[in-house]
Order: sequence, then structure tokens, then C-alpha cells
Amino acid sequence: MKIELDLNRRPSAAPRSLAGLSLTALEEEIKALDVPAKLARMRAKQLRRWLHHFGSTEFSDMTDISKDLRALLSQTYHLDRPEISEHKVSVDGTQKWLIRFQPGVEGESVFIPAVSKTGALCVSSQVGCTLNCKFCHTGTQKLVRNLTAQEIVSQVLIARDGLGEWPATVHGRALSNIVFMGMGEPLYNLDNVAEAIDTMSDGEGMSIGRRRITVSTAGVADKIPELGARTGAMLAISLHAVRDDLRNEIVPINKKYDLQNLFEAIRAYPDLSNARRVTFEYVMLKGVNDSAAEARDLVKLLKGVPAKINLIPFNPWPDSPYECSDWDTIEKFAEIVKRAGYPSPIRTPRGRDIFAACGQLRSESIRKSAAERRREALGTAN
Ligand code: SAH
Repeated sequence: MKIELDLNRRPSAAPRSLAGLSLTALEEEIKALDVPAKLARMRAKQLRRWLHHFGSTEFSDMTDISKDLRALLSQTYHLDRPEISEHKVSVDGTQKWLIRFQPGVEGESVFIPAVSKTGALCVSSQVGCTLNCKFCHTGTQKLVRNLTAQEIVSQVLIARDGLGEWPATVHGRALSNIVFMGMGEPLYNLDNVAEAIDTMSDGEGMSIGRRRITVSTAGVADKIPELGARTGAMLAISLHAVRDDLRNEIVPINKKYDLQNLFEAIRAYPDLSNARRVTFEYVMLKGVNDSAAEARDLVKLLKGVPAKINLIPFNPWPDSPYECSDWDTIEKFAEIVKRAGYPSPIRTPRGRDIFAACGQLRSESIRKSAAERRREALGTAN
């Protein structure tokens, strides 16, 4: 059957990028081009493979798609990634991209190579954050907006472009894991995060298995079951305190979901086992949460949960109100947790020199009022 395509058709809106769209979204776009519904799914699958497996940036690569359809696609869409405003490489190999999703909306992703040729890309789910955790630099930046699923996935495209890791399944690729530990609270943007995880884990596309994707939350307990059911991703919890009074102060969302609430949700997370542990992040703040008594209370709190505890030396940022615990104190804390049978690695800070370490991410983007956005669009901003 020959498809009749109108090559003179003019795009109705400014061209948009197809790169990073989910399979369903690609299918919708193709249907909008009047490709018969029966064929649209197949075309979407072909596109998905070119975009997310091969990392194509040109429609002309797509030799299994007819020339007519390619011409129509290229007049309606492009395959660009969002613009990179800044790219920095640390002395330790960590890389940070500041990405301009749209004018005034910038967020960061960080690639952290491991010793063993693997590595994790730390992606942002929001620009800014609503949570105000006291030790976190992102917490000093108000929420600008949620990122779309496409924008979340585009962070992986940008990193793979930079690392030269196309096609996605080359053996021994450095970008092997994804952690949602960049800016923002992923469980406050769960629809987009779940859609992005579907795209990242698609075996015909980016092929990053769901078990290699970790979503970290400060403790939005009532969304944890949904995260498990919809994504099958690994769970990480930013714990940082073992008593409600202290946690209320340093992770204020604890006032809404206290430790008991949080641990009920954690214990019910699907498929937990020693091979599939919950990661707990615990930032070491001098004289605040780092005593031996707190390490013992942590062990009690974790009872029965297959867990791994990442002890994160506090990373300072300008005017931050805390200091990092002494090394001896961190080691003592780690020893107590380890003796109770939980792996408790002390994370070496990575990328501190380029401000890419945990809790140091912050962009200059601010949320603009509708009036400000209108003035800017009219070119009358002052
Ligand atoms: N909102 C989610 C995702 C952000 S993850 C969450 O809280 O889990 C970012 C991780 O870095 C969190 O564990 C956070 O608590 C930790 N962090 C924040 N500021 C830090 C700092 N200054 N030093 C070390 N770790 C920090």
C-alpha cells in the first residue's frame, strides 16, 4: 500500500524535537502526520530505534523509513537535544552539564564514572525544588517547574552524545546506570519520571535495565507504592536523621510523612531482597546526626529492611550552615552499621571542584511571573 503524503504541508507550529519522546508519544506525532493508524505504530518503533538506540541526529540516517516520510518528518520536526549552556569536567573524571531546557529554565546532570568502566548518570527531575532540606544547595532555589519526560530523557541523550556511546548497547559502556539524584523531588513529578523510565529502560531503545535505575526520594511516603508498581526501579531514601525531631528540622517533609509512615512504605516496596536492597543516603553533618548512638538507632530503624547505607560526607556550598563530620567519626559510624550486617560505604565526594557533588547543584533559573514572561516575549524585559 502506498501512503499519500502531502509534502507541501506546512508545519502548524514551530518544529519540535522528537528525540527523547516515548514510544507512545512518537506514535501520536506520526498519527498527526496522517500516517494510517496501522502503520503509525510500526513507524514509531523504527524511529525509536534510530533515536534511542543509535542516537541519530539526522533523518537521513533512517534508511528503513521511506524517503517521502523522512522528508515530511524533517519538515515538521527536528532531532536536536536541548542546548548545553555549560559543560565541565572534574579532575576526577566527573562531568557536569548545565542544560537549557527553554530560556530561563536550566538544570543539571552529572556523570560519575566508577572505577570499573561503568558509571552512573545523575539526572534532574525538576528545576529547583520545593523541599528545603537544610543541607542541600538545590533547596535554596525555588521550584521553577517540573521537567517533562522528554526533557528527563534528553539528559541521557546529551550524556551519551558526550561520551560517544552510541549505539546504546555497545559492550562495556560507561553510562550503565541512572540515578534520579539530581535537582528536584522525583516523586513530585512521578508521571513524567515513570514515562522517562519506560523510555530509558526500553530494550529496543536506550536499554538501561530497570534494576539499573534508582529513584531517590526525600520521603514522599504515599507515592512510594506507586513508584514501585509503575516503574520497577530501585528505591533510595534520603534519610539523614533517625529521630523525628531532628528529621523535621533538616528534612522538613518529615513533618508530613514521619519516620513510621516512611518505613511502612519502604517495607512494602516490591521485590526487596538482599540482591535488591533499598539504598539509604545519610549525609554526615558534624555534631548534628553523626553520633555512635545515632548509628545504633539507625540499625534498629532498619531492622528487617534489606538495606545499603551510603554515608555521604557533607559537601559544602557558599554560606552552608553545616560542616562535614570528622573522618574518624564517619568511620566509627560506618563500623557500627557494618557490624550489624549492612553495607555502609563512605562515598568519596566526586566532582567537588566543579560543584557537581551531591547537594551542590543549583542553577540561576528563577520562576517568572506570567507578566514577566509576557514582557520578555515582547522583548520589553528590563
Ligand atoms: N529529592 C530527592 C533527590 C535528590 S538526591 C532526594 O532527596 O532524595 C540528592 C542527594 O544528595 C540526597 O540524598 C540529598 O540529601 C543529598 N545531599 C543534599 N545536599 C547535600 C550536601 N550538601 N552534601 C551531601 N549530600 C547532600
